[in-house]
Amino acid sequence: MKRTAIYPGTFDPITLGHVDVVMRGLKLFDHVVVGVAANPNKRPMFGLDRRLQMVRETFADEPAVTAVAFTGLLVDLAHEQRAHAILRGLRAASDFEYEFQMATMNRRLDEKIETAFVMAREDYTFVSSRFIREISGMGGDVSELVPAAVLPYLKAGEDRG
Ligand code: ADP
Repeated sequence: MKRTAIYPGTFDPITLGHVDVVMRGLKLFDHVVVGVAANPNKRPMFGLDRRLQMVRETFADEPAVTAVAFTGLLVDLAHEQRAHAILRGLRAASDFEYEFQMATMNRRLDEKIETAFVMAREDYTFVSSRFIREISGMGGDVSELVPAAVLPYLKAGEDRG
């Protein structure tokens, strides 16, 4: 039986930290579906289509990784994609509380879907989409922290369309 995990997030934009989580996920699962959440309350820098496009371009050569956009409940997406698990990454203890709450809530919604955590690679523990947006917005070089596909989008700047 093919084992599929959903990796949900805002991916505003996708970073090499996220890519590392996906690649670790592929050691545990046959297929990882990156679920790009609309998350309008976070007022993302990039519109949903662009965030999805950046993820798809990043994994263009990786057939075991696909990407979808979603607006509803994560457990509904998991059913739709026939996923057995939710994949998330942990960078530091500070991620834990929110992740624990989310995993517990998702378990209440569907106890059959397990949440699996993988630990960030040491050199990416400080990488977050927020810092990428801030550093890039001030003209800093983030080329070693994001996939190459993301650079032209960052260069073009904010685009909520
Ligand atoms: P969210 O809006 O749900 O926090 P993100 O796109 O910021 O979405 O992150 C999605 C997931 O990826 C979260 O589990 C987060 O902890 C994890 N993550 C983000 N950056 C890294 C990183 N550098 N290393 C490992 N995991 C990360």
